[in-house]
Amino acid sequence: MMNAAFSPQKPIPYGRQHITQDDIDAVIETLQSDFLTQGPKVAAFEQAFANYVGAKYAVAVSNGTAALHLGALALDVNETSRVITTPITFVASANCVRYCGGTVEFADINPATALLDIDKVRQLLERKPQGYYSGIIPVDFAGNPVNLEEFRKLADEYNLWIMEDAAHAPGGYFYDSQGNKQLCGNGVFADLAIFSFHPVKHIATSEGGMITTNNEELYQKLLKLRTHGITREPELLEENHGGWYMEMQELGYNYRIPDMLCALGLSQLQRADAGLARRRGIAKIYDKAFAEAEGIEVLQTNPAALGPDKETGHAYHLYVIKVQDRIGLYDFLRQHNIFAQVHYIPAHTMPYYRNLGYNQGDFPEAENYYSQCLSLPMFPSLTQEEQEFVIAKVKEFVSR
Ligand SMILES: *Cc1c(COP(=O)(O)O)cnc(C)c1O
Repeated sequence: MMNAAFSPQKPIPYGRQHITQDDIDAVIETLQSDFLTQGPKVAAFEQAFANYVGAKYAVAVSNGTAALHLGALALDVNETSRVITTPITFVASANCVRYCGGTVEFADINPATALLDIDKVRQLLERKPQGYYSGIIPVDFAGNPVNLEEFRKLADEYNLWIMEDAAHAPGGYFYDSQGNKQLCGNGVFADLAIFSFHPVKHIATSEGGMITTNNEELYQKLLKLRTHGITREPELLEENHGGWYMEMQELGYNYRIPDMLCALGLSQLQRADAGLARRRGIAKIYDKAFAEAEGIEVLQTNPAALGPDKETGHAYHLYVIKVQDRIGLYDFLRQHNIFAQVHYIPAHTMPYYRNLGYNQGDFPEAENYYSQCLSLPMFPSLTQEEQEFVIAKVKEFVSR
């Protein structure tokens, strides 16, 4: 039980990175090497990450938003494109479509899971002629895996691409209809998947991101777009003037990630399974604590992500509860040095998207979810004492 004398010495955030001496040594070693930008750690990180999520190819980039932007470019998003995504996500999932001049079409969430509701997506698709929409960006929100097999079937009916925003879900998985485990970002059902290595995410490189795919053509496109649209590959050149020769074949960007950050990512990746196991352990304790608690609702894990013995494919970037007096609980927790957070303010209610024609009231499930949701501390280095303190304070508030 809770130690009554315990009070947190420092604030307990909702998420926090975990940096070890090995991580620090890996960065220093790279700093002392010949490569500050593109060196051997980039390819090594890509290879290791591709293996980790079970994809053929991985392209490391400067952050998760750059990954989304390059992904949208590689999928040919342009002024004529209409792309469907969820309002309950970090705005970058939608913004990448706007970077390319395309139109964002939101569809509402399933209130039980807070994931993009496939039935709502189907309704959108059925109302328009074939070819009206170009793609779907489903988000493994909170680390809860989307059933991409179902989305793939729907996407194939309407000839759409899928870019999975798996920023919350490295190591997450669901079971397909054949009973096979399908890792988030493995490229089996989605054309592309993206990840972020922002410090609150599972693997931290400070800033960093990754795109995974099984499609070689998209892979080659992404490599080129990451570095100005330039290629030096002899077999890809239109001309060849000599050893110095390169061609800028399309308009790309500098979205490269430095070697030392990839060294940090590689080092972190070695602890990813342990961190994930810890996150699932923390979730289990929250689940148990809140199962019977009046006035606290927890988000459901996607049923497809649960194994036969209830073992879970949820990757728990976030642990979300829903309460009636959310602002009351948020302020109460802050008074006790617990910095819970809200994920997310629905994207369609942001002034930018309202200026594009969206309105409050457009997606009632998303808005209702937003009025009640709170993300509790969830990170591998959360101590048992800290978690017990959080649970006790949440229960104290809702039972008042
Ligand atoms: C963090 C995040 C991103 C963007 O990643 P950055 O590395 O911060 O650019 C995109 N989508 C989701 C769902 C995220 O949580």
